[in-house]
Amino acid sequence: MPSPGADFALPRQLREDAMTLLSDQVHLKPEELDSLWMPFTANRQFKSAPRMLVKAEGMYYWDDQGRKILDGIAGMWCCNLGHNHPKVVEAIRAQANVLDYAPPFQMAHPLQFELANRVSRITPPGLNKVFYTNSGSESVDTALKIALAYHRVRGEGSRVRLIGRERGYHGVGFGGISVGGMGTNRKMFGTLMSGVDHMPQTWNLKEQAYSHGQPAWGAHLADELEKIVALHDASTIAAVIVEPVAGSAGVLVPPVGYLERLREICTKHGILLILDEVITGFGRLGKAFGAEYFNVQPDLITLAKGLTSGAVPMGAVVAHDAVYEAFMSGPPQAIELFHGYTYSGHPLACTAGIAALEAYQEEKLFERAADMAPHFEAAVHSLKGSRHVIDCRNLGLMGAIELAPREGAPTARAFEVFLKCYEKGVLIRTTGDIIALTPSLIVEKAEIDRLVSTVAEVLKTVD
Ligand code: PLP
Repeated sequence: MPSPGADFALPRQLREDAMTLLSDQVHLKPEELDSLWMPFTANRQFKSAPRMLVKAEGMYYWDDQGRKILDGIAGMWCCNLGHNHPKVVEAIRAQANVLDYAPPFQMAHPLQFELANRVSRITPPGLNKVFYTNSGSESVDTALKIALAYHRVRGEGSRVRLIGRERGYHGVGFGGISVGGMGTNRKMFGTLMSGVDHMPQTWNLKEQAYSHGQPAWGAHLADELEKIVALHDASTIAAVIVEPVAGSAGVLVPPVGYLERLREICTKHGILLILDEVITGFGRLGKAFGAEYFNVQPDLITLAKGLTSGAVPMGAVVAHDAVYEAFMSGPPQAIELFHGYTYSGHPLACTAGIAALEAYQEEKLFERAADMAPHFEAAVHSLKGSRHVIDCRNLGLMGAIELAPREGAPTARAFEVFLKCYEKGVLIRTTGDIIALTPSLIVEKAEIDRLVSTVAEVLKTVD
């Protein structure tokens, strides 16, 4: 069996005319699919008809059948620069020769500081302290731990409760699924963390269907937090965590005024507000972060995905100076936070992050995303009236088309749309019966049009 790793070293030199050769090299026999247990995947179904990506560039993937696929979801909401950005590729390649790894506990390497400085330059005011992780899930669990420890070091150790929201997605760590609100991700895993409560989700089909951007209805849903505070008492609550726009549950855009109201209530009760910006960070809404887009000041933000444009796994928590300073009160030789990962601030991830941030800036991609958003909005809403469609919604370069579920077979209709789009060379993503479109920030108008017209065509053929 050819080792995919070995094969991948060569093809960087190869261009399109060599694709046939490449796909021959990476063709796997059915029995060669046995050893892998795939994440969030119907393993048996997939292995009976695999979809195998072997190469990427810009807005496109190629699969092992030689099919060129327009990537409508930036990999998985992460490759904001498009694929294989030359600057990022070169940075990783050069760094791999120089310093493969450096221990991050009681040791460091300069790139960690350089990236942290660059990140803090674009984060909201006061959020200047960057703690590295390797994924969004780790970022969320890190932020929750920082929130708990923050109150403890300030002598408010009774603040142990964490408040999430229904339909929130905060990764798959125990902290993340506990505060998360997607039933399917929780039900197999028992009782999860105790001391967690959830606010209601904000999407309401009756009141908000076909909203362009933020829905006008629903700011009052933030007041549910007051009820939770009344129930448990503020002295027991450490933090509230929400995504500025809930992504994985199907692009649930916050009502006008909702996030501002959450901020007010948190401030009033001394509760930290964590914005999970794993998806909304790095230009997805046309600004560096959702916090900036909505003009809401968080105490902590969680990052991943676009930080390296998906090229190397990396995440981070960015804490407000005041949060960091609360930890800096003991003797200077004392470790202030007993938390971290072997790969926190890995050299390859840092170099990819630095290159990605430079590329975002040089190519003005956040501004580009903002400029492209009206075209994207019009395209997404052009699906109103298509067969099965019950809602279209959008913000920045995040869009969703919600389908009526098939009688007795929820999710089946959207999954069929996904498969048929793939056959037509377009990659979309589905969650439940919702189609998500979240292209890279380099997307062209014609590519947006093709994404949407392919979905429209396919909808006509699906029962
Ligand atoms: N938080 C949010 C808002 C996410 O969308 C995701 C992933 O999609 C995560 C956390 C988890 O990130 P990861 O899959 O890198 O662990």
